[in-house]
Amino acid sequence: MSVYDVAIIGAGAAGIGAARRLAERRLETIVLEARDRLGGRAFTVAPAGGYPVDLGCEWLHSADRNPLTRLARAEGFTVVEKLPDWGERLIRTGASAAESADWQKARAAFQERVAAAARKGTDHAAADLLEPGNRWNALLDAISTWANGVELDRLSVQDYARYEDSGVNWRVLEGYGRLIERLAAGLPIRLSTPVHRIDHRGRTIRLETPSGTVEAAAVLVTVPPTLIARETIAFTPPLPSAKMEAAHGLPLGLADKLFLALDGPAPELPPDSHILGSTKRVATGGYQLRPHGRPMIAAYFGGALARRLEAEGPGAMAQFARDELAGLFGSAFAKRLRRIASSAWAVDPWALGSYSFALPGHADDREKLAAPIDGRLFFAGEACAPGFFSTAHGAYLSGLAAAEAVAAAKN
Ligand SMILES: Cc1cc2nc3c(=O)[nH]c(=O)nc-3n(C[C@H](O)[C@H](O)[C@H](O)COP(=O)(O)OP(=O)(O)OC[C@H]3O[C@@H](n4cnc5c(N)ncnc54)[C@H](O)[C@@H]3O)c2cc1C
Repeated sequence: MSVYDVAIIGAGAAGIGAARRLAERRLETIVLEARDRLGGRAFTVAPAGGYPVDLGCEWLHSADRNPLTRLARAEGFTVVEKLPDWGERLIRTGASAAESADWQKARAAFQERVAAAARKGTDHAAADLLEPGNRWNALLDAISTWANGVELDRLSVQDYARYEDSGVNWRVLEGYGRLIERLAAGLPIRLSTPVHRIDHRGRTIRLETPSGTVEAAAVLVTVPPTLIARETIAFTPPLPSAKMEAAHGLPLGLADKLFLALDGPAPELPPDSHILGSTKRVATGGYQLRPHGRPMIAAYFGGALARRLEAEGPGAMAQFARDELAGLFGSAFAKRLRRIASSAWAVDPWALGSYSFALPGHADDREKLAAPIDGRLFFAGEACAPGFFSTAHGAYLSGLAAAEAVAAAKN
């Protein structure tokens, strides 16, 4: 049996980024992927032969600083530079100009309190910074369920403050998932090969899979922290307690998407616009109307609501969206909507959630999760990415950084 220089576990954005860099460094690499497809949480589908839609990442966040923007263009993908109108969704939902101004003030004040807490350096739940009784608390919390996959009462304020966002958000017309898949072209990847055990007692590291054992001098683990915390891969000897605590401190929040086809044209819906299900409930959806001008609505649910809707099933998720959209556009409109696709990331066994957040007191866990062990067990993935955590480009960059660390350790 040949011994690889490096075995990478996971062919998501992080694993693919790392494999590309290690190929450049001419290291003998193998990528072992549990699923029968590439991309992990980057996943484009084309339901019933229709338009490509992303069940996972869609936006090139911080697109002006995002390395995947350049790669998308280089690979011939269409980068759509139209900025989202998230700032206008309140007005579109029916708020008056005065209400909208009041919201902007409340939101800016909250962000200022977050920045002040970050300067102070003590960590606690971001919900502690909500002004008691403020009319906009529910909306601030709902936005957290979409952005972080969790309500503010479970979110570390320090970690939240560390997220970097240039404010430039673009999209890949053909699908972000397709782009990540394309970036894997030519790489040595074995699909349908889940790693169950990593034995790192000997001179080489042994990885057990249902189709046999793979040996490598170094291993790069890119699986989500949920899976490390649940010990879906058994390590012999076990991972140090600091690593396990970091994995537990960075659970995946939940965000789910639902795509509804519009029966007939809907010129009354401005293309590529966003609207809120409600400004008064935390348990509400965000709705993207006619993305790319296509006859569909993309709904976004986060946190406890997403968890509930997933548990109730795709029919209940679609009904919830129809009810909220009926409230906005009338019941005749809602009858024209047909479910075409939806995600269920909480029950996806190879993710168990959507993107990582830090629990209060765990903002420094990202560094601990990323730290190598014995110069031959390395870690990457969005949860390890400083600043750009929870994103595809953060995952990709963390893969590049880990690959550099592997290559440096080899020399
Ligand atoms: C609904 C949703 C919306 C999102 N929107 C955006 C967005 O607009 N913009 C953005 O930048 N990001 C977004 N994200 C986040 C982005 O998709 C992720 O941060 C990124 O794709 C994570 O990449 P990764 O490589 O770290 O992890 P993953 O993509 O999860 O890759 C890890 C891989 O490891 C595999 N694996 C797990 N266990 C094993 C095992 N034992 N053996 C072998 N393989 C294993 C998994 O199957 C997976 O393929 C979104 C995510 C979701 C779910």
